[in-house]
Amino acid sequence: DPRIHGIQSKIRVVPNFPKPGIMFQDITTLLLDPKAFKDTVDLFVERYKGKNISVVAGIEARGFIFGTPIALEIGAKFVPLRKPNKLPGKVISEEYELEYGRDCLEMHLGAVEPGERALVVDDLIATGGTLCAAMKLLGKSYKLLTQTAYCY
Ligand code: 5GP
Repeated sequence: DPRIHGIQSKIRVVPNFPKPGIMFQDITTLLLDPKAFKDTVDLFVERYKGKNISVVAGIEARGFIFGTPIALEIGAKFVPLRKPNKLPGKVISEEYELEYGRDCLEMHLGAVEPGERALVVDDLIATGGTLCAAMKLLGKSYKLLTQTAYCY
């Protein structure tokens, strides 16, 4: 797709950020270009519209930037997957390994319902650990809600 080259050219690569040896892919420069930003969203919308997806789950923070316009365009609800202690309601959590230490994602219990089809959005996959945690979190939520329904 000819749009991909345009998108790629707008992502700034910053060597040694946030620490030595990392080539940081900076998407803030992509956001400065309305055409490249729209092309990015359009590519995902074209791929996922009409595929029976009712939930877009965006990973904090850059997954919110791309996830929300995709959700609006495909007619799905948007569910933020947040860092700990940001959500006010009842949450479920999933911890995951980082290169150094651990982190955690949380979502509101009941934001998705059993049987819903979700699209998880973030800006970048490195090890895949964050995405994996997001998928586990959604799976946990389905399981909990199904079990609750079963108890009643
Ligand atoms: P992973 O869990 O796949 O190792 O790392 C992916 C997560 O770290 C994503 O949430 C992503 O936002 C962030 N991340 C890691 N490296 C980069 C990078 O070079 N650029 C940007 N924009 N995000 C990064």
